[in-house]
Amino acid sequence: MSQEKITFQEIIQWLRRVVNTLEEKKRYLDRLDSPIGDGDHGRTIANAFNKIIPILDSSREEDVGGLLVEIGKSLAFSTGAATGPLYGTAFMEAGKLVKGKKEICLGDCVRMIQAAEEGVKRRGKAEVGDKTMLDTIHPVRESLEYSFSQNDSLEVAREKAKKSARKGMESTKEIISRKGRASRLGERSRGHIDPGSASTCLIIEAW
Ligand code: ADP
Ligand code: MG
Repeated sequence: MSQEKITFQEIIQWLRRVVNTLEEKKRYLDRLDSPIGDGDHGRTIANAFNKIIPILDSSREEDVGGLLVEIGKSLAFSTGAATGPLYGTAFMEAGKLVKGKKEICLGDCVRMIQAAEEGVKRRGKAEVGDKTMLDTIHPVRESLEYSFSQNDSLEVAREKAKKSARKGMESTKEIISRKGRASRLGERSRGHIDPGSASTCLIIEAW
């Protein structure tokens, strides 16, 4: 089994890249949210993630799980939009599994993404195929599970996960929405990428 580890500092660096990417891409995400939502997803998510900067700056104790739970709480309470509590739940559920760990392995990543997916499903009462962020999270989960079973290196697992994220995001274009604001459009939601699946894709690609 691969003994490679992701260190606490690497997690911090990933999260800083996430904050920067979401800030850079906020107009693109707002544009995706315009035809099928209320046009605010980019601003909402960029603001929510900007609020985690003080947590990243002040984290001294090397506890990956503690960090992710704290970030999850911040995300959950940082916005009135649907996505704050959903991303908050994902980070909290993932973090709980690695409390006190200074570094994590691929097996931990698998358990974390499983917990994140289950948390988002429970919280949003949604399923894969409803045209939401779950359509990005689920293929990433499957990809990491497969990489783990194949004993892939972290590098290989990461690259495969990113490709799966993008495919998942693109798959939402053909789906008719069944959850959130876009579901009100019914058939007319087809032909548009789901903004939440796109922000999740950016988060994975920042890895
Ligand atoms: P709001 O719809 O409140 O304006 P955002 O614009 O920030 O929130 O986010 C919209 C995104 O939230 C959607 O693109 C979708 O991916 C995600 N979403 C909405 N409802 C759910 C749900 N019940 N479960 C999972 N994801 C959801
Ligand atoms: Mg919106």
